[in-house]
Amino acid sequence: MVVLPMHLRQVFLDHVAQTSPSPMGLEMVKAKGVQCWDKSGKAYLDAISGFSVCNIGHSHPAVVKAVQDQAADYMHLIVYGEFIEQPQVAYAQLLTQHLPPSLNCVYFTNSGAEATEGAMKLAKRVTGKTQFVAAQNAYHGSTQGALSLMGDEYWRQAFRPLLPGIAHLPYGSSAFIEAIGPHTAAVLLETVQAESGVVKPPPGWLAQVAHRCRAMGALLILDEIQAGFGRTGTLWAFEQMDMVPDILLLGKALGGGMPLGAFVAPRELMQTLTHGPVLGHITTFGGHPVSCAAGKAALEVLLASDWVAKAEAKGRWMANALQHPAFVSVHQHGLWLSVQFASAALAQKVIHRCVQEGLITDWFLFAPDRLRLAPPLSSTAEELKQMVKIVLRCVATET
Ligand code: PLP
Repeated sequence: MVVLPMHLRQVFLDHVAQTSPSPMGLEMVKAKGVQCWDKSGKAYLDAISGFSVCNIGHSHPAVVKAVQDQAADYMHLIVYGEFIEQPQVAYAQLLTQHLPPSLNCVYFTNSGAEATEGAMKLAKRVTGKTQFVAAQNAYHGSTQGALSLMGDEYWRQAFRPLLPGIAHLPYGSSAFIEAIGPHTAAVLLETVQAESGVVKPPPGWLAQVAHRCRAMGALLILDEIQAGFGRTGTLWAFEQMDMVPDILLLGKALGGGMPLGAFVAPRELMQTLTHGPVLGHITTFGGHPVSCAAGKAALEVLLASDWVAKAEAKGRWMANALQHPAFVSVHQHGLWLSVQFASAALAQKVIHRCVQEGLITDWFLFAPDRLRLAPPLSSTAEELKQMVKIVLRCVATET
């Protein structure tokens, strides 16, 4: 008989691999919509959507039903790409109906990082080249190929040697564009840089990058793993940039709360994965039927709502309401904000206080001096007001 431990926290610390010296360590027992509850019954507002995953809120009934129905029909059957699995096919169809015509073929993966890996391999295979250009302060995942793209030596140095042939240039710079040359297989960029604190590219810059890529025979891979699914006020952030990528990376909200990633590309490019060698990218669980059923249900909910259309107005309201002398800057794009403090120490104190006061928030990988706000797009005006109120109260307490 398994004896349930009295002190789950200690078992968590002892037997679940830790990656942080100070995990939040909240013991949540339920999440619904914008709220989560811990085991004492205390309610929290989730101001970061489980890191931009729960764009339609936690455990939406349509997603729960899709998961239950699919689990009852079948779960894992076989490795990726062999059987015709209806949830996968239906979701690929729905996604491509809402993407530009060239992005017509979806390779479903387990995670965002695996989507990055698959897209890098595809770019090498298609172009016959091996070099990549990525941005400083870029985050595309934590596996070794994706980590090689990560735009900060602090995070890379302990894991060298990593992939050779990767240049890192400042996001939004002309030097970045000049670094794209005849040996470049692909350029990897976030449409909006997430982990440096919601940083938009300068107007017209991404279109210039796309133009240079075409001139040099390089592919442009855009990462919308955080920016996608309405976060920036349009379904895809690149819609606001007057350009279309060659390959699009998706993850996080893609699975509606279940694990799922994808790289999306023109079918003729994707076909190169079928030969020389065959099985150009192999995954056992990529495109899991339950994840695809959940993701499709979540996207249908999002498309039937006015949440994407209202994301920018909601975000602007929050940015305007977030007024305090302790804020050095507030960056906002859609319903996605970073609030900068004079020091990382102060930001961490405020973040910690917010969590104590029932608001789930966090910092950014490359900007520990900023507080993260990415509430579910389904958040009501009242819920957003509550979130702002808690942040302002905590700042007042800590300054
Ligand atoms: N790309 C971006 C922009 C991300 O924010 C993340 C995750 O935070 C990833 C890629 C990697 O996704 P995953 O954690 O699913 O591997």
